[in-house]
Amino acid sequence: MEATEAVRTGVDYDVVVAGGGPSGLIAATAAARLGVRTLLVERDGFLGGTATAAMVAQFFGFFHERTQVVRGIPAELLERVQALGGSAGFVEYVMAEASDRPVPTRCFPFDPEILKLAADELVSQAGCELLLHAVVTDVVWENGRLVGVVAHTVEGPLAVRARVLVDATGDAVVAHRAGLPTVGAELGSARQPLTLVFRLRGVDVPRYRSLPREEKRRIVREGIAQGKLFWESFAFNSPRGTDDAVCLLTRIRGCDALDAFSLTRAELVGRQQIRKVMEFIRSVPGFERCELVSIAPRIGVRETRRVVGVYELGESDVLSGAIPDDTVVLGAGPVDVHDPNGTGFVEMRMPPGPFGIPLRCLLPRDRVGLVAAGRAISASRVANGAARHMGTAMAIGQAAGTLAALAARAGVFPHDVRAEEVRATLRGSGAVVGVEDL
Ligand SMILES: Cc1cc2nc3c(=O)[nH]c(=O)nc-3n(C[C@H](O)[C@H](O)[C@H](O)COP(=O)(O)OP(=O)(O)OC[C@H]3O[C@@H](n4cnc5c(N)ncnc54)[C@H](O)[C@@H]3O)c2cc1C
Repeated sequence: MEATEAVRTGVDYDVVVAGGGPSGLIAATAAARLGVRTLLVERDGFLGGTATAAMVAQFFGFFHERTQVVRGIPAELLERVQALGGSAGFVEYVMAEASDRPVPTRCFPFDPEILKLAADELVSQAGCELLLHAVVTDVVWENGRLVGVVAHTVEGPLAVRARVLVDATGDAVVAHRAGLPTVGAELGSARQPLTLVFRLRGVDVPRYRSLPREEKRRIVREGIAQGKLFWESFAFNSPRGTDDAVCLLTRIRGCDALDAFSLTRAELVGRQQIRKVMEFIRSVPGFERCELVSIAPRIGVRETRRVVGVYELGESDVLSGAIPDDTVVLGAGPVDVHDPNGTGFVEMRMPPGPFGIPLRCLLPRDRVGLVAAGRAISASRVANGAARHMGTAMAIGQAAGTLAALAARAGVFPHDVRAEEVRATLRGSGAVVGVEDL
């Protein structure tokens, strides 16, 4: 699209980040802190993406077993959430405990409403400008280079120009609109299932947690047999250690989140599943007196498109703990790939150690002035299963925002920024870029 076709052209920025989820809000903060003029464009009226809109209220990816592998701006966001009373901090947690593949790890449960406040504060204090209720629908080209995006806003289409763009939409919307190669869309409804999260109050969380694992497994099998539970992982967390429970108990299979009508159906099926869960859950010890208080505004989408990058992070990179020279993020895992057809997982295991995410995975194959962030980076399906956790997505965001800012400042393509410069800048702002930083 030509920028002039938009109803109004906006001001120019050095960096425009599309998508204000975990990776995008950190990318925008990182870029703005480096002193470049930054705009964050988000389709919802608040930041946080899956962490707020889909109410997935527990951060994984910060720890590999007992080792913290993500620090920097993501860790600062967590401190702000805690300071605002939105979390009691990291807890020991067994992922998929009621399934046949439990993985002990550490997670950071939080209140999604408080995360919205902390994210506003973080981004604004960095000097980043925000454009909310703005859906990126197109890109602007000039001489073979991406120079902006067009967002659908309350005024109609609005074009904003940038020296460098960051695609943090989760769905690789910018790359897709630009016609760059992506993978994942071709799988349609065979991608990982969707989950509509809901929140209960009146739950005796310690009572449920104290049940023996075998009893939890029995409950889940019983619920599935009755058609009132939908996957083997009885996953929930209590944001502030109180009597509320944010529950990931639905599992919507056979829907394609990139198909408008299929996505609509997924929301409806998700709500039907919540009704079924509510018929069953009061028979579970600890949940006898629970009440449904809210349903996430958006269904949670685990997997859609990923860019085809200069390098594709592979399963063997993750499982061998490879840490290449241009590593900008340490991933923790676990490798977490849900079965698109059944009630369990295709993959659920902890890699033997932290693994490196190279800068090359953030660079689309084509040199057009775009950087990828979050779950849309270049990775195989299995590797993405390990890299998509929000702690990792946020660390990727910091790397993406840093790269974009350095490129914009130097007036070069992101591909032309040296990895060593990105790593040094990240390190200077407290991020972990290698095992030597642990
Ligand atoms: C059901 C479910 C459970 C999960 N469980 C966990 C868990 O327990 N712990 C964990 O750490 N991770 C979990 N994950 C994974 C994690 O939430 C995601 O991988 C992570 O949020 C990816 O971050 P992101 O910033 O790349 O994308 P997203 O969180 O998807 O954010 C993308 C952002 O871009 C915006 N956007 C999209 N399109 C446009 C557009 N066209 N214009 C403007 N804005 C746009 C969206 O509104 C959103 O704010 C889960 C995911 C799901 C779906």
